[in-house]
Amino acid sequence: MFKTLQNLADLRVTLRPDGPLLIRAQSVGIDPGPADMEFQRTRRAGKSTVYLAGSGLKGVLRAHCERLLRSAGRFACDPTHVRDPQTCGGRSDRDPADPKRYPHAANCAACFTFGSLKVAGRFRVADAYPAKAEEEAANRTEVRTGVGIDRKSQAASGGVLYDAEVVVGGAFDVRISGENYALWQLGLVLTALDDMAGGLVRIGGAKARGMGGVTLESWAVGLSFVDARAGKLAGAHLVQGDKSYGLPAEDLLDAPAGGGESRRGLFRVVRYEGDAVPRLTAALVAGPLDAYLHPEGR
Ligand SMILES: [Zn+2]
Repeated sequence: MFKTLQNLADLRVTLRPDGPLLIRAQSVGIDPGPADMEFQRTRRAGKSTVYLAGSGLKGVLRAHCERLLRSAGRFACDPTHVRDPQTCGGRSDRDPADPKRYPHAANCAACFTFGSLKVAGRFRVADAYPAKAEEEAANRTEVRTGVGIDRKSQAASGGVLYDAEVVVGGAFDVRISGENYALWQLGLVLTALDDMAGGLVRIGGAKARGMGGVTLESWAVGLSFVDARAGKLAGAHLVQGDKSYGLPAEDLLDAPAGGGESRRGLFRVVRYEGDAVPRLTAALVAGPLDAYLHPEGR
């Protein structure tokens, strides 16, 4: 992968259920599908607790980013179609990669951001555990009785009832970290999170029954850069002797107002919190992300 370390991102946000969120059930009938966020149970510090699997949260964010990319006319493969020869992970290395569809070292924009079987993603999502003060509330789950869904017809299958455990309260610490990302990728991830906060992205199984809404609060974004260009956000750029990954020679943006700049070791750190985060997101979307999605309009 990258021989150099150019930048890091540390995105933290608190996720709160806005209505019931399904926990993965042991029984059949409510398989939430591979792209759905999943609450699961584990033991932590001797206690049973619900948590949100990072892979599930990443799947939901990725699926939404794929839709955003496709809406802008860009190709994004669907990695849940494992046998589809168009997916980056399933594509044969013998076929030349169309640079329009697979511009990032033979990967599409979504795989380059979130990873595929062949490439590590630029962003990782950690498992989200209940915030310390919210452990009890998060684990005060309820049981709902639902109707099983028939796999083939996608309709309610006659008489199949299941008991589903749902999370109804508490708060979960979400942490997403990025490394060697282009600024358009940071904009894409932040705007997808913003859409989730705005109710556009629902999570978990049984979305159609009004479940899966969340609110996101206490936003904090820490961005670390190895360069010394004060006042700038710097995306990963092409480095001589490294694979190109479809990165530009330079990827810079004036840091939007509201970010505090400091130093930590060799890094220049720019931090956005609370109300300053939407300003950061808006600047990344209007600048680098828009330029990436619509290069012809520039
Ligand atoms: Zn792909």
